[in-house]
Amino acid sequence: MGGVFDPIHYGHLFTAEEARVNFRLDKIIFVPCRQPAHKRENNISNPECRYLMTILATSNNPFFEVSKIELHRSGPSYSIDTVKEFIKKYNHKIKIFFITGADAFLEINSWYKSEELIKLCQFVAATRPGYDLNKLDQRFKKIIKIMEIPPLAISSTAIRKRVREGNSIRYLLPYEVEEYIYKNKLYQ
Ligand code: ATP
Ligand code: MG
Repeated sequence: MGGVFDPIHYGHLFTAEEARVNFRLDKIIFVPCRQPAHKRENNISNPECRYLMTILATSNNPFFEVSKIELHRSGPSYSIDTVKEFIKKYNHKIKIFFITGADAFLEINSWYKSEELIKLCQFVAATRPGYDLNKLDQRFKKIIKIMEIPPLAISSTAIRKRVREGNSIRYLLPYEVEEYIYKNKLYQ
């Protein structure tokens, strides 16, 4: 599961856990990107902070891992490079499920080398409030797995805004991540 994870929240964690159980996955690897290929307007937190928050959020789940694969690669973080590296690392003996939320998958056409990427792994698109997977091309609907999950209207953008405006973010993300945000004065 790739992401900016700025910060990681229960929307990510719940989606990952649902995918793990539904598709009987051996493990979930969270892959924070170094530099998102799709730039967001405001600055993103430095990769080390986002990586550490992802570690804090996942360390109590034995099936969850965090990879630094994209943090070590310079330039924009392209998923295709990551997937290829994983295939090589595991000697072609694995099947990769690429977990995304509806919003991310709806933009798949704009991803770098998306045609090649969707052939290399099994895409999973989790439902997400505000994004309609029915809009997807029939072609994509046939090859991806759509995963219906209870709607969690949590986003990193909303969490950053809440911190900036002094509103509580408790229960939207793990407490350890919340503490990290305040201790390091992120999003202020
Ligand atoms: P931002 O608001 O900064 O874009 P985000 O909450 O969308 O942050 P990302 O790091 O962009 O988080 O998302 C990583 C992946 O997790 C994407 O595939 C995204 O679609 C998915 N995702 C994030 N939040 C949810 C959610 N609440 N439900 C389902 N999928 C989610
Ligand atoms: Mg996003």
